[in-house]
Amino acid sequence: MAESVRPVFVVTGPSGAGKGTLIAGLLERLPELEVAVSATTRSRRPGEVDGREYWFLSEVEFLRRVDAGEFLEHVCYVSGRRYGTLRSEIDRIAAEGKVCVLELELEGALKVQSEVPGSVTLFISADVSELERRLRERATESTGEIGERIRLARQQLEQAHLFRYMVRNDDVERATAVLSAIVERELELAAERA
Ligand code: 5GP
Repeated sequence: MAESVRPVFVVTGPSGAGKGTLIAGLLERLPELEVAVSATTRSRRPGEVDGREYWFLSEVEFLRRVDAGEFLEHVCYVSGRRYGTLRSEIDRIAAEGKVCVLELELEGALKVQSEVPGSVTLFISADVSELERRLRERATESTGEIGERIRLARQQLEQAHLFRYMVRNDDVERATAVLSAIVERELELAAERA
């Protein structure tokens, strides 16, 4: 019998689409899921904790880990900030017998989709006006950086078709229910294949 491939769920979509909120709702409904903590070189926002939201690394430390092959994927995103998925996080989650969820921007999500067997990509979309409103409301970045995120978000909305599923986040409750139903179905299918 073929070895079963554990699904890895990759939630992607533009900044401000509400990926974090939907993932939080998803984890409440499906406690067997766990989100991998990425590494980043961006600065910590108020309330963020090292090792919880991200591993906050210096540029030098991040690049050292790139050279050491510690990342499954890594990108240089807005304002030259780096983000990457640590292989150790995926291994840790698998060792706990849990199902891994990654929250990635599009480039990283496409890389995982093409390279990781069993990966299931879910694109979270929202209206441009809603995206802009949320990004301005968040307003933790400098004005220039928010402009850059909005411009990028507009471009990214056009790439939804590259991913397996698209979930529209116009209503958080509804979108969380849709996302959970997809994940549950994919877990059932994976169990049947095992
Ligand atoms: P933020 O700075 O708002 O926390 O995240 C910016 C973007 O980086 C978001 O779209 C988020 O999904 C993405 N991101 C977070 N961690 C990773 C990662 O490890 N790899 C990639 N490719 N993107 C990430």
